[in-house]
Amino acid sequence: MGVVLSLLRKHSDKKKAKKAAANTNTATAAPATAPEMTKTVTSSGSSSDERLSIIIVGAGLGGLGAAISCAMGGHNVRVIEQAKEISEIGAGLQITPNGSRLLQHWKVPEAFWGTVAEPTDVYVHRFAGDVLYREEDFNTRMRSKYGAPFVDVHRADLQQALYKRALELGVTFSLDERVDSLDVAGRTDASLTTVSGKTFTADLVIGADGLWSQCRKTFLGDTPRSKPIPTGDLAYRIVLTLDDIRDEDLRQWVRNPTVHFWIGPGAHAVGYSLRNGEMYNIVLLVPDTLPGEVSKETASVAEMQQLFSSWDPTLQRFLGYVDSVDKWKLMHMEELPHWVNDEANLVFLGDACHPMLPYLAQGANSSLEDGAVLGTLLAHVKEKAQLKTALHSYEAVRKQRGEAIVRETFAQRADFHMVDCEAQVSRDQVLRAGPGWETQSAFPSRWNCPKVQPWLYGYDAIAEAEKAVAKQGQPIQANL
Ligand SMILES: Cc1cc2nc3c(=O)[nH]c(=O)nc-3n(C[C@H](O)[C@H](O)[C@H](O)COP(=O)(O)OP(=O)(O)OC[C@H]3O[C@@H](n4cnc5c(N)ncnc54)[C@H](O)[C@@H]3O)c2cc1C
Repeated sequence: MGVVLSLLRKHSDKKKAKKAAANTNTATAAPATAPEMTKTVTSSGSSSDERLSIIIVGAGLGGLGAAISCAMGGHNVRVIEQAKEISEIGAGLQITPNGSRLLQHWKVPEAFWGTVAEPTDVYVHRFAGDVLYREEDFNTRMRSKYGAPFVDVHRADLQQALYKRALELGVTFSLDERVDSLDVAGRTDASLTTVSGKTFTADLVIGADGLWSQCRKTFLGDTPRSKPIPTGDLAYRIVLTLDDIRDEDLRQWVRNPTVHFWIGPGAHAVGYSLRNGEMYNIVLLVPDTLPGEVSKETASVAEMQQLFSSWDPTLQRFLGYVDSVDKWKLMHMEELPHWVNDEANLVFLGDACHPMLPYLAQGANSSLEDGAVLGTLLAHVKEKAQLKTALHSYEAVRKQRGEAIVRETFAQRADFHMVDCEAQVSRDQVLRAGPGWETQSAFPSRWNCPKVQPWLYGYDAIAEAEKAVAKQGQPIQANL
């Protein structure tokens, strides 16, 4: 596929800053819930500096990352989000160096970095508690190997930081607007209508509307193929504050950030600190018992504790402090034929096109990668005629990697959820021996694996996009 993207940046940094300042005023002066002054995002044709008008559906982490990246590329960006506000809810997230290097590049507010917990050690335990493997100085090793930190964060802190940065860059938000339908077929621009009856048009719509994507329904039609499918597992998600935990040993455990995996037959658990060691996040991953159509439900605490009653006493002590908990069905989907439509006015990112098991903590990280690649490629588009090539380039750079990560999450499940058998005994021996960095051999914990860790954490999305641009006129080889 030939790439004919311009190598010329459209705007000087100075010009971008000026535009950002102007747009910040617009965004704050016109609250998103107020009636729209105009239903049309500034069209690329009407602007002398040939900016694209881009609508992003969804202000999740993927949508917000893409908003920042596209705005930094000099385009006019509007985000349409069904929620009334960018909320303060959520649980923990592990942001791996491939994600954190993008947050650094995007210059998210400095205060965000004060809210994270940076784990010093990673432990893999047998379910009953024995330590099978421990990687010490994980924090320093991550920074020195990958040039960016591995941080555990509260989703709300990250979402707020991205939201603030997007506002600073002049992104406009339409909150409390649920996209109902899209009109993209057979036209060069794209139009969408919200449940409240508003219509928005733009050069490009980015479907960042998550697992149950309405944009994907338009792309594939309302067919079984467009629906997510159960992975067979569900997650209990727990967040405890230091005040919830009365046991001083456990409070000390939380204050000293580390990551713990407990692996057992058909299930595993993950625990890590958040907010500078003031919160503890636990995710329990077990076989799915929710009815087919239920994706989330309030769970019985007693049932949850019973499921883990033969596990590590430390984990059980933490679970003893849980008052209420939800369980979430974990979904994925068949690989999409494309992430870009034929008209090149609709493109996908994040969970809307590659939902995965959270077993490598890559759902959000890879959605940030998507946004970074897309925005970087779009920064080189100086006229709308180049949009199609840029989007094809995006798909070539991202689709294989996104789908390879999805497959790797299932491989991690196979290794972590082994029933007790000979293979599990060999797995435990390999874990006890530790990873062979000299021989680059595979290791059952991909978090510490010489093959998988560099591939996941060493990926620099912006550099990959720039490489694709530099190779203009040559076939694009995706670097997974
Ligand atoms: C238990 C668990 C633990 C996880 N842990 C990690 C982790 O440690 N690290 C990690 O990287 N990932 C993790 N993930 C995955 C991660 O949460 C998701 O992959 C990621 O949040 C996807 O981001 P997104 O922006 O693509 O979608 P979403 O976060 O789902 O955002 C979609 C947005 O679109 C909006 N929207 C939807 N439909 C419409 C509509 N019609 N109109 C307007 N707005 C709409 C939604 O309100 C939402 O704000 C975890 C997931 C689970 C379940």
